[in-house]
Amino acid sequence: MSETFDVVVIGAGPAGYVAAIRAAQLGMKVACVENMLGKNGKPTLGGTCLNVGCIPSKALLDSSYLFHQAHTLQVHGVSVKDISVDIPAMMARKDKIVNQLTGGIHQLFKANGVTHLVGKGRLLAQHQVEVTDETGNLQRYGARHVIIATGSSPITLSVAPVDQQRIVDSTGALEFLEVPKRLCVIGAGVIGLELGSVWARLGSQVVLLEALEKFLPTLDGQISKEAFKLFTKQQGLDIRLNCRVTATQSRQGDVTVDYIDGEGRTVTEVFDKVIVCVGRRPNSQDVLVGDIGIATDERGFIRVDDYCTTSVPGVYAVGDVVRGPMLAHKAMEEGVMVAERIAGQATAMNYRYIPAVIYTHPEIAGVGKTEEQLASENIEYNVGMFPFVANGRALAANDTAGWVKIIADKSSDCILGAHIIGSSAADLVQQMAIAMEFGATAEDIGMMVFSHPALSEAVHEAALDVHGHAVHKVGRKRK
Ligand code: FAD
Ligand code: NAD
Repeated sequence: MSETFDVVVIGAGPAGYVAAIRAAQLGMKVACVENMLGKNGKPTLGGTCLNVGCIPSKALLDSSYLFHQAHTLQVHGVSVKDISVDIPAMMARKDKIVNQLTGGIHQLFKANGVTHLVGKGRLLAQHQVEVTDETGNLQRYGARHVIIATGSSPITLSVAPVDQQRIVDSTGALEFLEVPKRLCVIGAGVIGLELGSVWARLGSQVVLLEALEKFLPTLDGQISKEAFKLFTKQQGLDIRLNCRVTATQSRQGDVTVDYIDGEGRTVTEVFDKVIVCVGRRPNSQDVLVGDIGIATDERGFIRVDDYCTTSVPGVYAVGDVVRGPMLAHKAMEEGVMVAERIAGQATAMNYRYIPAVIYTHPEIAGVGKTEEQLASENIEYNVGMFPFVANGRALAANDTAGWVKIIADKSSDCILGAHIIGSSAADLVQQMAIAMEFGATAEDIGMMVFSHPALSEAVHEAALDVHGHAVHKVGRKRK
């Protein structure tokens, strides 16, 4: 045994690196095993999120949005000539941000005394982790506690094998060196819409082939309808529902996609690139050796309780490799919770109020229950809504799409859900997540003073609207 640690974390994504830092802050001797290499071929930290997920995708979303906006500046009285896009420069900016953030995790590890073990980690026994480096060298480490934070990987489709040239996954779709003229996206979920938006803004004709009949079925129904309308009618995303891809053929210059459309017709189309983004699966297989008693479910997620403890004492699992939404903020908070519980604290996580955001424009954000969920649970509720078109700040910014919707319990008035489609929805929904965590009622929010002019006034008005008191809304009587 090379060395023994209080905590060995396997995986340095948001779940793992945060768990490692928090455990070290609490005075424990910590190692974090990570085998990912960055684009420069050197070991990197930060996992999917920082290297090939949240951060690079948002960098491209922001760059492409600015490019798109530059064409609309005349409405502000600003004229711009000869707008063009330099994709390699855009990519270089994205890579710089990734390097800055992943470098920051290296510094945080150093500052907190976390040992970075470079290589692939496997849990050999309850208190033993094996690390294999690039050259095949094996080292064994003792661990009083192990935190598995190995994340997730893209689900593959046998009919569209990823070659990262013509047919790519989300990682490949962050690396195009030119704008594909015709882009096919298989899966109109979160990644499909975000990366489809990036390339559509830069000039691609984007076709999204979605297997389900319903668009974004887990979202509030009104939001998904509004989003579909905005994406298809205003933004030109060609979203085709109820489609089943049956074959693809990658060639030198293009790729052919065969699919059965919503009417049962067989269609063949030619594209320059195809992005496969049909969900992600947990990375649980490689890290668990033999039968050490760690239970997984039928989809491969490591089974854990509300505190992320597995079926083996002293072994925890956090982030995408366990149940719950595959979101970086959920992963990070689980990392904190487990580190603090190992240190003897009674930290718990409230899974009811985890906000989720799709970073299209407008953004789509939600927290708590949807109307559909409440109806299926026979819970009575009131709804308040307020459109951004009646918000002064949105008008000033020429960015008026969407609205805020607040759902409150009919008898207690406690806020049960908030769903926003609009500019800055990610930031606005967090206000409601905080309010819900503190058990706020719609009346509480209605009685607060909001800055003017600000987009958050739409949150205020939606809360007032729950009881028909919205001031700046036509069509509702003041009660
Ligand atoms: P990961 O980030 O996947 O990290 C796991 C790490 O473990 C990886 O670095 C992996 O190399 C390492 N590992 C795996 N097995 C081993 C092993 N045996 N030994 C050593 N190391 C190992 N979420 C959001 O909340 N907001 C967003 O905007 C967002 N955007 C996204 C955009 C894209 C394109 C993608 C793909 C995902 C996005 N996500 C977003 C999801 C988010 O990235 C994940 O939920 C998050 O990264 C999960 O964190 P994690 O630590 O559990 O796993
Ligand atoms: P997703 O589950 O959001 O969407 C996948 C879509 O593909 C679904 O609509 C599904 O019906 C469809 N699909 C499945 N099989 C198909 C097939 N054979 N043909 C056509 N369509 C098919 O998954 P994703 O977009 O791959 O993202 C993976 C995870 O990453 C998400 O769960 C999300 O939590 C996370 N993520 C989050 C963000 C964010 O927070 N903004 C951004 C990107 C990714």
